[in-house]
Amino acid sequence: MMSIDLNYKNVLKEIPEHVTLVAVSKTKPVEDIQALYDLGQRDFGENKVQEMCEKAEVLPKDIRWHMIGHVQENKIKYMADFVYLIHGIDKAKRLKEVQKQAKKNNRIIEVLLQIHIAEEDTKFGMDIHEARQTLASGQVEAYPNVKIVGLMGMATFTNNKEQIKREFHQLNALFQELKNDFPQLQHLSMGMSGDFDIAIAEGSNMVRVGSAIFGARNYG
Ligand SMILES: *Cc1c(COP(=O)(O)O)cnc(C)c1O
Repeated sequence: MMSIDLNYKNVLKEIPEHVTLVAVSKTKPVEDIQALYDLGQRDFGENKVQEMCEKAEVLPKDIRWHMIGHVQENKIKYMADFVYLIHGIDKAKRLKEVQKQAKKNNRIIEVLLQIHIAEEDTKFGMDIHEARQTLASGQVEAYPNVKIVGLMGMATFTNNKEQIKREFHQLNALFQELKNDFPQLQHLSMGMSGDFDIAIAEGSNMVRVGSAIFGARNYG
């Protein structure tokens, strides 16, 4: 417990006021989340819907739950009544199911478009063209219960800091450009334990940090 406190304080020191820290608690027990909550942390990220639902059930209701994992359409219904922000909308067509479930729950669900910036093909996300089209097309009006509020991206898994910097730089440039036309875009979610410092320097205002706070995971 002590080390989580210390890790958290060390991470917080690196994060400026205007940047939201999402503490990524996937695979970690609710006791660890509660410990951070007691220190004032309210934004938590999970990548599995079921795990997030189970944790949300037993933890304080004012936690803002971020779904940062790949979005499976058939699972959206389970989180639709409480999820705070869905980071990983990697295809425009997924918005249809978010709309359906948000409407059922009489809420507006905020989402980020996930942009593919890494070299690896294994990472999900739309390309720049698809993101622009999604925002410009009628989807925004067609889906009144969905609000696209920003972009999310993951850099290539590499030790090459120049490459990571370049990828984040590119995503921020796209974000700034789209923001001109679509002022509802506010969040730029980029940066994880290994690269959040680079991400912040390149314009991120939302970082998703797991292992630097909670320690290494057994998997993933
Ligand atoms: C697991 C995960 C993180 C956090 O990773 P760390 O390296 O532990 O900080 C951030 N973003 C996504 C999408 C993740 O799946």
